Amino acid sequence: MQAVVFPKAEVLAVERVPDPICAPDEVVVRVAATGICGTDLHIFRNEYMSDFPVIPGHEFGGVIVEVGKDVTDFKLGERVAVDPNLYCGHCYFCRNEQSNHCLNWQGVGITRPGSFAEYVAAPARAAYKLPEGLSDAQAAFIEPVSCVVHALKRLRVWPGDEVLIFGAGPMGLILVQALRHSGASQVVIVEKQAERLALARQLGATAAISPGPDLDAALRARAPYGYAIVVDATGVPAVIETEFQYLKPRGQFLQFGVVPKNATIRFSPYDLFQHDWTVIGSFALCYTFQPAIAWLANGVVDINPLISHSVPLAQFPAAFAQFAAGQTLKVQLRPGSA
Ligand SMILES: [Zn+2]
Ligand SMILES: [Zn+2]
Repeated sequence: MQAVVFPKAEVLAVERVPDPICAPDEVVVRVAATGICGTDLHIFRNEYMSDFPVIPGHEFGGVIVEVGKDVTDFKLGERVAVDPNLYCGHCYFCRNEQSNHCLNWQGVGITRPGSFAEYVAAPARAAYKLPEGLSDAQAAFIEPVSCVVHALKRLRVWPGDEVLIFGAGPMGLILVQALRHSGASQVVIVEKQAERLALARQLGATAAISPGPDLDAALRARAPYGYAIVVDATGVPAVIETEFQYLKPRGQFLQFGVVPKNATIRFSPYDLFQHDWTVIGSFALCYTFQPAIAWLANGVVDINPLISHSVPLAQFPAAFAQFAAGQTLKVQLRPGSA
């Protein structure tokens, strides 16, 4: 089959590789659509927990074309999405409802071959049948939406909370929609790119502001006592350092954007103490595929405006370069198409 391979850091190729072999407890999925995400870039730059060589890709949906001999609940031809996080089910964290911290964690597209390929094998226990009417594009968004579901389970949104989000990339734009449904009184977003600002407004942001000399005054005018919730969806350390000042006392800060592994920021523990702040991390997802599918199937989260490029596998190198340069929103690969 044809696949994208990262043989080592900062190197990529689209080449022919052997088809995946279906283990007894696995299914093989013909990939219909798969999304490129910031994690893939971190993998490419060797800033993440994967080894080389790797076939990346962890956001995907497709059709089952092979079923392992021990699998009883899936059939050939069924459309599925796969939770790329493979939990062991028996470690301390798995047995404590915290599977995203599984001690024996494996990731499709991270520690084992992923979906930037015509076919991908995965354990059947991680596959979810797609409801009728959910598109391939939506199926490939279930994983990122699941990460937002996990984040919203970590946060405690109170009716009337003022929300401030930094970064209107695809994840920021999903967060806007999710937080608009959570009872927040305002969802304000800060973003550099004009198109993304317009999209944020279209998708429910109560205000979308570009950074500049007037930013501080604009943010403070909207929430004189500060924001109950501040979300970082940029992953940029220098930006994160500027975000805490907008939290109101008792506020919650959510670190959602993925920062390079060795990055540090300056932070005042005194402010944390004096203002009763809560700082929340949100790593990947934790059995949140089902609520994410329900959000997508019911139109709570609209992902179609977030797709800027939909290209065949062969165009991966050019699309990935554009993505890395920040010139895209979500790029989806269509491995079946030429
Ligand atoms: Zn991702
Ligand atoms: Zn485990």
